[in-house]
Amino acid sequence: MGKNLTKRSEDYSKWYNELVIKADLAENSGVRGCMVIKPYGYAIWEKMQAELDRMFKETGHQNAYFPLFIPKSYLSREADHVEGFAKECAVVTHYRLKNAEDGSGVVVDPEAKLEEELIVRPTSETIIWDTYRKWIQSYRDLPILVNQWANVVRWEMRTRLFLRTAEFLWQEGHTAHATREEAVAEAVQMMEVYADFAENFMGVPVIKGTKSESERFAGAEETYCIEALMQDGKALQAGTSHFLGQNFAKAFDVKFANKEGKQDLVWATSWGVSTRLMGALVMTHSDDNGLILPPKLAPIQVVIVPIYKGEEELNAISERVDPLVKELRSKGISVKFDNRDTHKPGWKFNEYELKGVPVRLAIGRRDMENGTYEVARRDTLEKETIKGDEVVSRIEYLLEDMQQHIYKKAFDYREAHITTVDSFDEFKEVLENKGGFVSAHWDGTPETEETIKELTKATIRCIPLDAKEEEGKCVYSGKPSMQRVLFAKAY
Ligand code: AMP
Repeated sequence: MGKNLTKRSEDYSKWYNELVIKADLAENSGVRGCMVIKPYGYAIWEKMQAELDRMFKETGHQNAYFPLFIPKSYLSREADHVEGFAKECAVVTHYRLKNAEDGSGVVVDPEAKLEEELIVRPTSETIIWDTYRKWIQSYRDLPILVNQWANVVRWEMRTRLFLRTAEFLWQEGHTAHATREEAVAEAVQMMEVYADFAENFMGVPVIKGTKSESERFAGAEETYCIEALMQDGKALQAGTSHFLGQNFAKAFDVKFANKEGKQDLVWATSWGVSTRLMGALVMTHSDDNGLILPPKLAPIQVVIVPIYKGEEELNAISERVDPLVKELRSKGISVKFDNRDTHKPGWKFNEYELKGVPVRLAIGRRDMENGTYEVARRDTLEKETIKGDEVVSRIEYLLEDMQQHIYKKAFDYREAHITTVDSFDEFKEVLENKGGFVSAHWDGTPETEETIKELTKATIRCIPLDAKEEEGKCVYSGKPSMQRVLFAKAY
């Protein structure tokens, strides 16, 4: 049935934008680079949040909230940090407007200039470490394991719904530790939590690794990341977890008395995932008919569409469906009985396919006579007729099976798109014609990385954590290398 979606094979980027808008996930706003997240999109985000929040709490973290504004002087305290973020900061300079003298509207009141300008937070390390100085005196105050759910602003020039916006929603964890080992272990743990969430809830397979120096977070000693592969062969950084060393403790003078009574600088981590995950979800699974959502994150898991003529038939159908709805809900399955008479069944089928509802039940006259339902699964679009007394267990099976199946499909695609190359010609050829990750030796220098990026647009996505030590020669410079890294064109 026609959704008038551009096909992925024709223009992947256009397909994505159309789908996000047509499936009612989000739309552009009057503010450049900032989007409106619509109720259906927000419902998916809320499910992601709920699960992540549960995982953070299970690993000992608590939520708190810090200000939206950061005094400019705070941001400058850590040299690398400010250097990294300065180019994309929104700055508040005034706190009042006044009527224009020519009556043309309101203008900034020049007399209401802030003594110190404020930055709209691009990330909160600085304001949080300024606060931690007051919270931490002794080793007994450590560790601090805090997370905040917030919005941040990074003045991005090239934006795309969910994947890269100027304002985005995210969580940022900020932890403080007595030792390097503990902080590193925390950063690794949170990367693992993200990988677990991506794979087991989103159904998105990810590669765990560390970033090269030039891709590292501004102010970090090590950035751990999870990298996913989209259906067009481009990579997407889906989450990051940073070991910050003592950089922010130094910048904000955060010391603690250790067990020996000596003053020591505190060790830090920070980690975040954002509404970009929504983009990853859409781009990994969906098809030319619309969204495909993992059952664990679908706001509506089962939709029931009655096919009827007249009120009498609808009443009879409702009588059969109502107890089924109750039973499904009692099992924690979210279900919608769409008995609206304002839309035709065909329209509804189309709509729920577009919105990625995992299981669709239809019930018409023949099903009423036979005591059956027509059951359709969204991922394969397969349909079957199921007896009324088997339908609940069939739905439970399908939800579970679809969760596994879409992961497996994405995993197989990803595995088929990791290509090992040993020459630069091959490297370029694979990026040009096949896409995906290219596993190649690299001499470890930022210069080579930069040159490769200029020549091919591919960047080092990560140095995989599970990479074997392997002697080889850099694919570009021919200099010695001890392990392969993953390159790809990325979002
Ligand atoms: P960072 O603080 O740069 O390590 O980023 C933290 C998380 O936010 C990562 O998972 C990024 O993928 C994501 N992120 C960074 N910039 C944006 C953006 N402009 N829009 C949406 N997500 C972003």
